[in-house]
Amino acid sequence: MKLSSESIKKMIHQCTLEEKVSLCSGANFWSLVSIDRLGVPSIMLADGPHGLRKQENEGDHLGLNKSVVATCFPTAVTLASSWDRELLHSVGEALGREARHHRVSVLLGPGVNLKRHPACGRNFEYFSEDPLLAGELATAYINGVQACGVGTSLKHFAVNNQEFHRMITDVIVDERTLREFYLRPFEIAVKQSAPLTVMCAYNRVNGTYCSDSQSLLTEILRKEWGFEGVVVSDWGAVNDRVEGIKAGLDLEMPASGGVHDDEILSAIHEGRLQLEELDEVVGRLLHLIQKTAIEEQATFALDLEAHHQLAHRAASESIVLLKNEDHLLPLRPNQSIGIIGEFAKKPRYQGAGSSQVNPSRMENAYEAMTAMVDDPAILYAVGYENSQDHVSAELLTEAKKVAKQVEVVLLFVGLPDIFESEGFDRDTLEIPIQHQKLIEAVSEVNHNTVVILNNGSPVLMNWSERPKAIIEAYLGGQASGSAIADVLFGKVNPCGKLAETFPLQQKDFPADTHFPGNGQQVQYREGLYVGYRYFQTAQKEVQYPFGHGLSYTEFEYSNLTLSATSIKEQEPLHVRITITNIGQRDGHEIVQIYVHSGEGVIHRPAQQLVGFSKVFVAVGEAKDIDIMLDEKAFSHYDVKSQSWQTESGVYTISAAASVQDIRLQTEVIVHSDFIPEPESKLIQETYHRQTEKEFFVSDEAFGELLGKSIPLSEPIHPFHRNSSLRDIRRTALGRIVYDYVVRRSIQEFANTEIDEVTRQMIRKSIDGLPLRGLVLFNQGKINFTVLDTLIAFLNGKYLGGIRKLFELIK
Ligand code: BGC
Repeated sequence: MKLSSESIKKMIHQCTLEEKVSLCSGANFWSLVSIDRLGVPSIMLADGPHGLRKQENEGDHLGLNKSVVATCFPTAVTLASSWDRELLHSVGEALGREARHHRVSVLLGPGVNLKRHPACGRNFEYFSEDPLLAGELATAYINGVQACGVGTSLKHFAVNNQEFHRMITDVIVDERTLREFYLRPFEIAVKQSAPLTVMCAYNRVNGTYCSDSQSLLTEILRKEWGFEGVVVSDWGAVNDRVEGIKAGLDLEMPASGGVHDDEILSAIHEGRLQLEELDEVVGRLLHLIQKTAIEEQATFALDLEAHHQLAHRAASESIVLLKNEDHLLPLRPNQSIGIIGEFAKKPRYQGAGSSQVNPSRMENAYEAMTAMVDDPAILYAVGYENSQDHVSAELLTEAKKVAKQVEVVLLFVGLPDIFESEGFDRDTLEIPIQHQKLIEAVSEVNHNTVVILNNGSPVLMNWSERPKAIIEAYLGGQASGSAIADVLFGKVNPCGKLAETFPLQQKDFPADTHFPGNGQQVQYREGLYVGYRYFQTAQKEVQYPFGHGLSYTEFEYSNLTLSATSIKEQEPLHVRITITNIGQRDGHEIVQIYVHSGEGVIHRPAQQLVGFSKVFVAVGEAKDIDIMLDEKAFSHYDVKSQSWQTESGVYTISAAASVQDIRLQTEVIVHSDFIPEPESKLIQETYHRQTEKEFFVSDEAFGELLGKSIPLSEPIHPFHRNSSLRDIRRTALGRIVYDYVVRRSIQEFANTEIDEVTRQMIRKSIDGLPLRGLVLFNQGKINFTVLDTLIAFLNGKYLGGIRKLFELIK
């Protein structure tokens, strides 16, 4: 069925009030409601982002029940290291084809939340610590998927930067940081690629749940950015359904057993919600259905082999060569090789949680490498077991024995599943102790050691001096094994660059003192000083800087010119540069353009990425490239006028191979009519050109940045619908409820293999589940009256509880 706008209007008219209300939430875990009598079909949504997770039987949002066989592409952190818009577009297209083949109308991705802190358990699913890079890559991905007639869901809108109490926590952030940093990747992707849906996040922002936020969902998203699609709730994110509709939240997912239908109906009857407001939501939903309903004959054929090859290219072009002393890599023919580490045979190739894909095929580096050389030439030792959390002297001895016999050791280490997952944050940035000891032991007996890392976010590397070479292979998807082998043997010249900073220590991140907050609230005191923006401003040393990545060849930068040496604000500026391959191999270079403002009145991080380009250059060749700068390259968000403004002045433009490897610089004069108001002394001392060793933001300074005093974190008592299950454990009744919910959830997945990671994910997700989740995730088996009765008892209001019990019996 295909509908036109006129017929949508007509159809809204034909729908009964009950039918309209029923469209506002899912029919089940993944599908929308159909209205058969009007010929409105049900469409299906499925995760995303790096592969299709279509569950044909039981649905869940933790990745536990089986899903269809699909191509597992590298996760977002990995793809981001490619800095390659064309690659992201191709991956998007392949995902769109797979979705369409399986009659999935909307793919739930990409995730563009910025990496405020490397310990966020879900960083592997997000692109970068830089808004431009994240926004541009998301744009390419969305355009690719949507070219297949499949919608995307840009998520999680907004400021969802941690897993701890993600369903409840209140992010306290100043408006400038919000606009310039956390909202910016969403803004870029919405404006450049028009995703058909945006998924609103679980958390609160400055006191309001995202699902109730008129400011986020209507004022900013629709009115300012021109978004015309559907806003869907993250699974179970609805706080107040009627407020949500008023705010611009169209679709509640998953189905909540109709518990909100009565609320919407009574709000209409009582005049708290206007019919026009509901009709707007229904109109948008019908449009989405119109655009994405896939008829049987319109599905796409699937070429899983071609998609595997694409997954391979994506993984190999995303690998980052962090270190390569004495040109140890690529490996020379006939070198004797020892492969050590369980990851070589059982790689970690994706993250746990809702993005978990059931891969069509699996490769591992050990098999890929043995297939490339004479099998017996490669020795192997397991080194450690990921199921064990201790150092095994026996395995170390065996590993050393192998290391002593070979010319080069390829040592596979990183983060096992239990160390990072959706649902909980990382406790440490260290790799497991048995991996650290293995690096120590092996590199002691063989200096030619290459460490290959499988992890979804930065790790600490106080061991980095020991191996001669380090490869960051991240979570490379189903073809990561052969991709790693190709880079090690030089079949592929590595070209990935880090889309995030690797620190020397966790506490170096200014956000660290306020991460992840107390569960009720998290304060973003560091403002704009996240990732390289902080490290460059404070001139603080890092392990590996943003944008870093080596190649087997060398590139020379020359002829840096600008399209103008003086421009008016908002005028486009082109940066031109020549890249020459002066090494011995063809290769790709990722050129980065940063802006630095000299003497501005308004504080700004020392460097900001404003453009980038990936270019292929053959040996001896010189290529001219032209990079147009981001439209907001010189502006900041002015809170007073609620608009983007530019300070007049001289700005330095740097062409760089990483944020710390600046090759050429020039200047541009920018003219603007804007007259900035000087910032207060306190703000200047705190944020302006921060060069302090330790970043400290006092209550007063943060209050000033917020423009009000810091809101108090809510008290735990009395309990309410948004109290967490962890909080109610303070009471005896709460403990009974909590244990019951944990037991039930584990029983629910009795047919699935529940390992320790899953157990932990379930437990931690339950810890942070607001009580209203007991209603929303129970398909109407528990209603709000039951919940309110329980809350009355938890609060010791026994009379009130008994009264509610009677209401239930009535
Ligand atoms: C995740 C979303 C996901 C949804 C459906 C939620 O828990 O936050 O990213 O798309 O579940 O699985």
